[in-house]
Amino acid sequence: MWQQEIGGVPVRDLAQQFGTPLYVYDEQLILQRIQDLAQFEVVRYAQKACSNIAILRLVQQQGVVVDAVSAGELLRAQAAGFVLGPHDPANKLAKDGSAADPHHQVVYTADIFDSEALDLVAKYGVHCNLGSPDMINQLGERCPGARVTLRINPGFGHGHSQKTNTGGAQSKHGIWHEQVPDCLQRAARFGIKVSGLHMHIGSGTDMEHLSQVCGALEKVATQVGPSLTTISAGGGLPTPYRSDDTRINLDDYFQLWDATRRRLQDQFGHPLLLEVEPGRYLVAESGYLITEIRTIKEMGSNRFYLVDAGFNNLARPILYGAYHPMAIATQEGKAGPANVPTQPVVVGGPLCESGDIFTQTEGGFVQHRDLPVAKVGDWLVIQCAGAYGHAMSSNYNSKPLAAEVLIHQGKPCLIRSRQDLRQIFADEQIPATLLN
Ligand SMILES: *Cc1c(COP(=O)(O)O)cnc(C)c1O
Repeated sequence: MWQQEIGGVPVRDLAQQFGTPLYVYDEQLILQRIQDLAQFEVVRYAQKACSNIAILRLVQQQGVVVDAVSAGELLRAQAAGFVLGPHDPANKLAKDGSAADPHHQVVYTADIFDSEALDLVAKYGVHCNLGSPDMINQLGERCPGARVTLRINPGFGHGHSQKTNTGGAQSKHGIWHEQVPDCLQRAARFGIKVSGLHMHIGSGTDMEHLSQVCGALEKVATQVGPSLTTISAGGGLPTPYRSDDTRINLDDYFQLWDATRRRLQDQFGHPLLLEVEPGRYLVAESGYLITEIRTIKEMGSNRFYLVDAGFNNLARPILYGAYHPMAIATQEGKAGPANVPTQPVVVGGPLCESGDIFTQTEGGFVQHRDLPVAKVGDWLVIQCAGAYGHAMSSNYNSKPLAAEVLIHQGKPCLIRSRQDLRQIFADEQIPATLLN
């Protein structure tokens, strides 16, 4: 109901110092989530969930490695201090004459190579997780003899929304499980060695579906054979967004995968590295979007709180009908009583688009949320906004990207300044003939 502080820092101070809308991340929560996964030897963060270079640096210091899905994400990872591959000047390991860093600090995972990504992959020797058969040929022509991971679509998928389901015949992701023999032939033609297998069936899925992946991966691994040195469980670990959502039992999850890995090790006669690839799990709960309530108005029987953030800042509600918990911070800086009167309100943003509503379900149905009676100038804090929050923001309506702050060692640190308004159109130009 109330949230006067984030990581010990008053919301009022954050809003006044950095302006709103503002993303704030509590470092402690990220560190805890990383700790939860300590059983896995390799935690590979799917940076697309929240790719600010300060967050990448923070997770790197905990021994976490990253996944990159584009040329931009490869360069972000490098800017944060990760080594892209064996030809990266920063890779001292490779210079000593040893093979590539066995943990592949960065893996490029995608269903296509665009030319920028392929250029970077070839230049730095980035390890690739290939999601389409054509990528084998494209990589093979540029980097014959490379080692690769294959991303397999096991023929089934699951997610919190149809839009986050990444397996099954409706999904564009991965190599169809029946085409593995064909892909192995393609690979052999270029001397490419399949050293990794990967499956990712969707985001925000559940234990039942996640556990089916083990069996599917084991079957494909047997087809590929002992060239494998790494298996990846993919991401998709769910985050509790609602108070009655339960946290997945990570111990059970690890045991399932560890058993799969051990059976394959016995079969191949050598050790296998087990990776897990969470995005939202590491960052969702750490992130808060602080907005200011700018008007409170009645429309018929509905009361609206309109805030200064819209789906340009947080798109999950309009994209998936995603639920985000919300709380109020008062201008006075004091929480109201626990038994404060609440009222059902609709929370919306400033965009000229009727779908710009934070309280909606999938399909665009407007919902009410019980929130404390607030006044214009109070702050509405949207919680669990760290994953696919800022990362999915846009300049729609020529709104600037929000600033981001990390509560680091108890202090607020600016990790991205609010975008300058003129920067929004800085790359545009008017043809000379129109200027006459
Ligand atoms: C998006 C993505 C992830 C992370 O998904 P989460 O649901 O955020 O854990 C992991 N792996 C791949 C390949 C992805 O595309």
